[in-house]
Amino acid sequence: AVVPNDLNAFWMPFTANRQFKKSPRMFVAAKDMHYTTSDGRQVLDGTAGLWCVNAGHARPKIVEAIARQAAELDYAPAFQMGHPKAFELANRIVDIAPKGLDHVLFTNSGSESVETALKVALAYHRVKGDGARSRLIGRERAYHGVNFGGISVGGIVTNRKMFGTLLTGVDHMPHTHNLAKNAFSKGLPEHGVELADELERIVTLHDASTIAAVIVEPVAGSTGVLIPPSGYLQRLRDITKKHGILLIFDEVITGFGRLGTPFGADYFGVTPDIMVTAKGLTNGVIPMGAVLVSSEIHDAFMQGPEHVIEFFHGYTYSGNPIASAAGLATLETYKDEDLLTRGAELAPVWQDALHSLKGEPHVIDIRNIGLVGAIELEPIAGSPTKRAFSAFVKAFEDGYLIRTTGDIIALSPPLIVSKDQIAELIDALRKVLRSID
Ligand code: PMP
Repeated sequence: AVVPNDLNAFWMPFTANRQFKKSPRMFVAAKDMHYTTSDGRQVLDGTAGLWCVNAGHARPKIVEAIARQAAELDYAPAFQMGHPKAFELANRIVDIAPKGLDHVLFTNSGSESVETALKVALAYHRVKGDGARSRLIGRERAYHGVNFGGISVGGIVTNRKMFGTLLTGVDHMPHTHNLAKNAFSKGLPEHGVELADELERIVTLHDASTIAAVIVEPVAGSTGVLIPPSGYLQRLRDITKKHGILLIFDEVITGFGRLGTPFGADYFGVTPDIMVTAKGLTNGVIPMGAVLVSSEIHDAFMQGPEHVIEFFHGYTYSGNPIASAAGLATLETYKDEDLLTRGAELAPVWQDALHSLKGEPHVIDIRNIGLVGAIELEPIAGSPTKRAFSAFVKAFEDGYLIRTTGDIIALSPPLIVSKDQIAELIDALRKVLRSID
């Protein structure tokens, strides 16, 4: 494949992308666990693309389903019309979802799924005649995509500060990770119940009857694999239930097997009212997201004669045929290969491998859960240079794709990763850590 000389027209305005354009790292092909670069090198995928290619790259069933669908029925309007595969996919998602979440709204991305969830939550209370419930609560260090609702409830300063007032009536709980540092935590740290009581404080401050929903990632992914202390999510569930507040889980990363269970809700044994998904739904191959809601929410909108309640929401591409075909083939692949629970089987091997990096240069914390992990490096005092970014560049040169966020290296290999490949990836990282300043 030819790499264009001029890379200016395609603008992705992240700072890191400016560095990328100076020394492009281009992929031209991918198969199973590996990418091929434009200079012909093989790179082991330690991040499932961007936490999405859970079944590995170019899986035959998915490739064939997309090609077949594109030739057979490429597009069908999503309003007042449909096609069978969207309905079938909704059913298959409900089959594997936590009990009680049994209706699906389709979107095209994680960001759109977040907006959809927030709109459903606000509209639900109005439909119930409880229009005073308009406040939303997110968390510090939360990532919920880049659209307006998502950056409003999200807690990453750099994603918020350029855009004015955002949504009003939003509060942020402190992130548990800031309150109780879980250095070298194997499994879950303690004190979850106490930390969740922060929500009670906000609820008391604003009066529970003004709060519509609380949104959290069961495990915060993009901000560095921040694992909730035990009891935390259950306590959030108890508090929200007690006050009539909806609980939304953003499972864009934790969904579809990443924690060794179909969803994070299964891992923690806590069912939200609304669940936000994307990424792994179509194995990252075609843009698609899905928002699952409880019967109670769905039924509230369906009461009374038709068209009495007008909740206008949906996209040109909601449940589009090619994405639906990709989703169905992806879920079949997960099922055929038991991938939604494979992370649980690999978790002990993954944990031991990751924690073998304890004591390596710069490492100050290691966290793991399911088939996801983080290695936190000591910041270089007084310098914007991040060691983790140097590690990323070096690892890429050596043939390994890792991800960095600030001083944290995040890992989330495709769920088809072998034990040997886990060992290979971690050994490569050990070498990288020893080679950077
Ligand atoms: N929510 C979470 C938890 C995410 O991790 C992401 C993406 N990393 C998003 C939302 C946004 O998804 P997208 O980039 O598909 O819009």
